[in-house]
Amino acid sequence: MRARVGTPIHKEAQRRVPADAESTPQHPGALRALQSRIAACTLCPSMTPWRQFRPDVYGARSTGYLLVGEAPGHISLMKGRRFTGPAGMLIRRALRSVGHPRYRDLEDLFYMTDVVKCHPAAAANPASNRSPRQTEIRACSGYLVHEIQVLQPSAIITFGKTAAAQVTSALATVSLTPVPRLIAFPHPSPRNQVTIRKHYASMQAFERDIAATFRRLIARLEQSRHGSTWLAAGASR
Ligand code: SF4
Repeated sequence: MRARVGTPIHKEAQRRVPADAESTPQHPGALRALQSRIAACTLCPSMTPWRQFRPDVYGARSTGYLLVGEAPGHISLMKGRRFTGPAGMLIRRALRSVGHPRYRDLEDLFYMTDVVKCHPAAAANPASNRSPRQTEIRACSGYLVHEIQVLQPSAIITFGKTAAAQVTSALATVSLTPVPRLIAFPHPSPRNQVTIRKHYASMQAFERDIAATFRRLIARLEQSRHGSTWLAAGASR
């Protein structure tokens, strides 16, 4: 029995390795089984006490769009809502600016996950955020592969070079037809402004480009679902 403290999941020290036998792609229970395995995983001792988002905050799987970040952040974890730290709020603001009534929040448009599913913090400060270590990324990589296999997304949005690299690697190991489109953005953290400014004239331009991408994804979704041409002009960009 795992104890839950606050919003994130704290897991008792039972070691599990990522398994794949139960998670047949397209099986109705495959995603839930995968989420349960992730929630029970304690493979990385460096992630103790293995704080994760609860399984009910992954978002929507029905759109066919997958959003991949680097790792759960402390603020988002405490709020129990993905992408709600300073970087995540930029992404949420970009979607809000699109103004579609059906897709106001990231949870409406994306199934959301991270390269590593547990919160990486400095040992001395559980409220801190650190970059995930290579050992942690490698240990968790099988879950990302399985998520892509099960979800079979049509498009995958990544934020940060770690997420882009891991999704690229995952896509090389799965056989999906059609191959999901990968759209990679720099990490939107305010601390990453130097990198962002190499690609964009300003942070506002960066945010506008994210919004334009969301607008195109929504337009395609609406067109395929309802034959709607809402914002279809933007979809051609
Ligand atoms: S980061 Fe991934 S592999 Fe490591 S303990 Fe958490 S779920 Fe398991």
